[in-house]
Amino acid sequence: MQTTLILLKPDCITGHKAGEVLKRFEDQGFQIRGCKMFRADASLLQEHYAHIASKPFFPEVENFMKSSPLIALAIAGDNVVERVRDLLGPTDSTKAPKGTIRGDFGVTVMQNIAHASDTLENASIELKRFFKPEELFDYSMTLSK
Ligand code: ADP
Repeated sequence: MQTTLILLKPDCITGHKAGEVLKRFEDQGFQIRGCKMFRADASLLQEHYAHIASKPFFPEVENFMKSSPLIALAIAGDNVVERVRDLLGPTDSTKAPKGTIRGDFGVTVMQNIAHASDTLENASIELKRFFKPEELFDYSMTLSK
């Protein structure tokens, strides 16, 4: 079982789509292991987006990511890293197919609803970036009704 890191971005939070996005993950049978709301500061964003920090659009991304609180989710399931990326769709919301999260709720290439780790290795790094060990939970998924 893998765990991946998801960030619900300002367009998701201010557009009241957090519940709908979380529902897509729960509908897959994925388990919520962690959930927190916080504001990202410049140094956290510089670290998280190091791979795009030199791009001309990075200042705009930084301002966007600071424009509202974010929600970080730790989501677990079989092959969850790849499956969540598939559920999100491609980076550019305008090119994301309907039925994907970005295709259904995203607006632009930047305002694309959510971040999700792209590899298992990055998921491990990113989970540590946003969650303390005691903020990640393991529990049985078989509660009796
Ligand atoms: P992804 O989030 O799909 O893994 P990247 O890691 O390449 O994509 O980019 C990080 C984030 O930067 C994207 O999710 C998006 O919000 C923003 N972004 C990427 N490319 C552009 C662009 N050309 N213009 C504006 N924002 C962009």
